[in-house]
Amino acid sequence: MLRRLLQRVRMGQSLFQPKVLVIAGTTGVGKSQLAVELALRFNGEVINSDSMQVYCGVPIITNKHPIEERRGVKHHLMDYVGWHEEYYLHRFEQECLQCIDDIHRRGKLPIIVGGTHYYLQALFQKRVKGEGSRAPTAAEQELLNSGDADAVYEALGKVDPDIAAKYHPNDIRRVRRMLEIYYTTGTKPSRTFAAQELQLRYDTLFLWLYSDMDSLGPRLDARVDNMLANGGMAEIRELYGYYRNNTYSEEQCQNGIWQVIGFKEFLPWLENSAMESLETCVDKMKTRTRQYAKKQIKWIRKMLIPDISGKIYLLDASDLSRWDNLVHMKAVKMAASFLENSEEVAHELAPPELQFLLTSPARTSSPKENKDWTHYKCPICRDKNDQELTAIGEHNWLIHTRSRRHKANLNRGKKKKAYEEWAKKKLAEEMIEPSSTPTSLS
Ligand SMILES: [Zn+2]
Repeated sequence: MLRRLLQRVRMGQSLFQPKVLVIAGTTGVGKSQLAVELALRFNGEVINSDSMQVYCGVPIITNKHPIEERRGVKHHLMDYVGWHEEYYLHRFEQECLQCIDDIHRRGKLPIIVGGTHYYLQALFQKRVKGEGSRAPTAAEQELLNSGDADAVYEALGKVDPDIAAKYHPNDIRRVRRMLEIYYTTGTKPSRTFAAQELQLRYDTLFLWLYSDMDSLGPRLDARVDNMLANGGMAEIRELYGYYRNNTYSEEQCQNGIWQVIGFKEFLPWLENSAMESLETCVDKMKTRTRQYAKKQIKWIRKMLIPDISGKIYLLDASDLSRWDNLVHMKAVKMAASFLENSEEVAHELAPPELQFLLTSPARTSSPKENKDWTHYKCPICRDKNDQELTAIGEHNWLIHTRSRRHKANLNRGKKKKAYEEWAKKKLAEEMIEPSSTPTSLS
C-alpha cells in the first residue's frame, strides 16, 4: 500500500518529463518475460512493438507471450489487426503515443517491448538540425543577415521552390532558416531527411537484453521445433487457408502478417508437398530465425545506439540459469534508479566483457555530429518532383528501405526484379554481411 502510494508520487513528480521504459533485443531472448517482471515491480503496462504480434491470432508462430505468463499485466497493441491489413510505422507511432499517454494518465509506467526496433523511431521527435556541414559564404551570410524579406524569399524560391511555397514571404525567420539550411547542407530543405536531429519525446530508459549467438542459436532452433510441435503447424495451415481464399501470390509475402517467419518457408511445401520436403522447410525456418536475430543485433548497434548516443543498458541473457542475478536483479536496479533520477542511472552500461557491443564501428558518430551525406538514390521510388528519391546518409537509407512506400513500390512486380538485383549488389556486401565496415558512418 505504502509502496504503491510512493510510486504514485514518484510518477506524479515526473509529470513534466514522463518516463518510458524500452526493452530491446533479439527474438527468443526473454524480453517479454523481463517486461512482465518489471511491470509487476514498477506498476507498469506493456506496449507491444513487434510488427507481427499486432496481428490477430497465430500466437505461436508470432511468439506472443502466453496469457498465463503475463500474470495479469496489461498488454497493448497486440492481437488486434486483421490479416487483410498492413501495419506500418506511422500507424504504430500514432497508436503507441496514444497508449503511452493513456498509461501515464493512469499513473503507470509504459514498457515498450518488441523486436521491431525500427518502430522505436516513434519515440523520437524530429526537428531540423541546427548545424550544417559547412559555413555559409560571406555573400550568403550577408543575404541571410540583410533582413530583406523579399530578397531572402526570392533566393529560397530559386533553390527550393517547394519549400518556399510553404511559407509566406513575410515569414522572414523561417524563410531565412530554410535558406540557411540549404547553404550549410547543400541539400534542399524540402527533401532533407538528413537535416533532422533526433530527440526523445519522453524520458526514456533503454534496456538491451542480449545473448551471444553461440547460446542463442541453439535456443532459437529448439524454439522452432517446439513451435511446430505445439500448434505452430496448425497456425501455418490456417494462414495458408486464408492465403488461398484470397488468391494471394508469393509477392504477398512481403506484406503484413505474411512476412511472419514460418509462412514463406513452408509455402512451397504447402503448395506442392511432392516438390519440397518438410525437413527443408523446417531448416529454412531455423535459418531465417537466426538471420533475423543477427539483423536485430545489427540494427540495435548500427541504428538505435547512435540515435540515443549510446545510452543503452545491456543485460546478459546468454546463460538462462543466471537470469535472476544477471538479468532480473540488474534490470530492477537500473529501472529503480532511472525512476528515481533518470540523469544518473546508478549502473554501468554493460558488463565489461560486453562493452564492445556499445562501441562498435557502427557507433562512431552521434546523429548530432553525423556528417554522412552519402546520397542513396532509390531505383524504385520517386519524390514529389518525380525525381529518383534520394535518402541522405546510410541511416535514412535503411529507414527508407523499411518504409511502407518503398515496400509498396517494391511490390509492383516489374520494378521488383530490377531492384533486387540492384540491392543485392549494393546492400549485400555493404550492410548485411557482418564483417563489413560501414565507411559512410565513420
Ligand atoms: Zn524506395
